[in-house]
Amino acid sequence: MAQMTGKQYKESLKKVKPVIYYMGEKVDDITKHPAFIPHINAAALTYDMALAPEFEELCSAKSHLTGERINRFTHIHQNHDDLIKKVKMLRAIGQQTGSCFQRCVGFDGMNATYSVSYDIDKKFGTGYHERFKNFVKMIQTKDLMPSGAMTDPKGDRSLSPSQQKDPDMYVHVIEKRKDGIVVSGAKAHITGAVNSHGHLVMPTTAMREGDKDYAVCFYVPIDAPGVMHIFGRQSNDTRKCDCSMDQGNCEYGCVGGEALIVFDKVFVPNEYVFMCGEWEYAGELVERFATFHRQNYGGCKGGLADVLVGAVYSLALAQGTAKASHVREKLAEMIHLAETIYCCSIACSCQGFAQPAGSFQADPLMANVTKLNVTRNVYEIARLAHDITGGLLATMPSEFDLHDPTVGKWVDKYMKGSSSVPAETRMRLIRLIDAMTCGTALAESMHGAGSPQAQMIMIERRGSLERKKKLAEKLAKIGDQPVLIC
Ligand SMILES: Cc1cc2nc3c(=O)[nH]c(=O)nc-3n(C[C@H](O)[C@H](O)[C@H](O)COP(=O)(O)OP(=O)(O)OC[C@H]3O[C@@H](n4cnc5c(N)ncnc54)[C@H](O)[C@@H]3O)c2cc1C
Repeated sequence: MAQMTGKQYKESLKKVKPVIYYMGEKVDDITKHPAFIPHINAAALTYDMALAPEFEELCSAKSHLTGERINRFTHIHQNHDDLIKKVKMLRAIGQQTGSCFQRCVGFDGMNATYSVSYDIDKKFGTGYHERFKNFVKMIQTKDLMPSGAMTDPKGDRSLSPSQQKDPDMYVHVIEKRKDGIVVSGAKAHITGAVNSHGHLVMPTTAMREGDKDYAVCFYVPIDAPGVMHIFGRQSNDTRKCDCSMDQGNCEYGCVGGEALIVFDKVFVPNEYVFMCGEWEYAGELVERFATFHRQNYGGCKGGLADVLVGAVYSLALAQGTAKASHVREKLAEMIHLAETIYCCSIACSCQGFAQPAGSFQADPLMANVTKLNVTRNVYEIARLAHDITGGLLATMPSEFDLHDPTVGKWVDKYMKGSSSVPAETRMRLIRLIDAMTCGTALAESMHGAGSPQAQMIMIERRGSLERKKKLAEKLAKIGDQPVLIC
């Protein structure tokens, strides 16, 4: 079987037995728990869209390893077209879910590890790349969803992994055996972790020789002994449990569903170890992963912005403000900001290049510019949405009051805007805007794929300042400069 349907994906989650905690309780079947269902639905859509005739061209691909048609989220990019289709796919899915659909992190981790494992082998004569290819084949043929687990808890940020007082602040190897390794530590904020099939674990930072034990990359199935998941709380998450329209987006939620993954002396067999001690390549793996992941954000957040613009426009019609020139202008500005980040994602894909492994990588400088713009534009889009929505965004009564036999008629009467639009329609739109722009939903645009400073550092490093200085000096006739500066 090369591709699963959404239904088969949901069934596959019942076949594994991961350890998952939420709100102080162990959850045995997440497919039946309201806190998890929206996130599972969003991931399931990535399976269904790959099989839908309207979307299969974007959401599926031909495997270069097996020749089979596979879900694009398991594909290794082979050319520019793959990089561009990835961004278009993310926008298309974002338009359908209005929320994070989680599958890109593992996808980006696989693409980064694919090329880095090749480079490590070339330098050290190790055998990681063949192993990794076998792993990718397994993921592709079973259509699995691995999470991308890079971010460690990190403890004191001013100290390197090996300098931490508690050695578990970064995932590390505690024992090497003939048949594999034993690891301890944790990964924080991992998107889709509880509804993945396993975790692709990567180092989170560049390392020095002293950090050798922390330079480790591996895969573990979600229910491997010693792996534990603690699901994070989200803004307004009790609304998920009352299953009301107050959720805003009851089908797909407002963010990916993140978890802290604890690795307590977990055994990883050699076949799933893709880096172990090659500290020189930890930074390279982080950089390549970050490039792929930052490339995404104008795609998925562009798709989400399309939904948000639609919600705000519909609400303006329901409130009688849609014809006001400042509202039209603000809607146009929201579209402009969304298209700007999308342009960035497309541009860094077009400027991509082949790695020695044969796979394709987006342009790192432009990918970082993409994500830095996302940290700003998405907040500005939300600010404009809040402006047009009005104060009910923060003060609106619940669905329970709308349907209450005593106060319902008052809620219905006073929540009306334009007389031609039912109060419930207006309330539903406001809740959707609330879900898409408040709290947890926005933080992902700031910190997901790295905080803004991480992008600034990359932009400064790759911005060719010395060359630009020479260009200016040549024209200003400072010193002896060649006619053409390359
Ligand atoms: C919704 C969401 C989903 C995510 N999903 C994933 C996922 O699927 N997989 C994954 O691996 N990660 C994921 N992340 C993690 C994300 O990559 C991190 O949040 C991000 O890299 C920032 O790390 P941090 O949260 O530890 O913040 P910190 O690193 O603590 O950053 C907080 C602030 O401190 C600054 N800072 C940090 N270190 C230093 C230093 N040494 N000196 C000076 N300033 C410093 C930063 O610039 C920032 O301003 C997700 C995050 C979010 C919010």
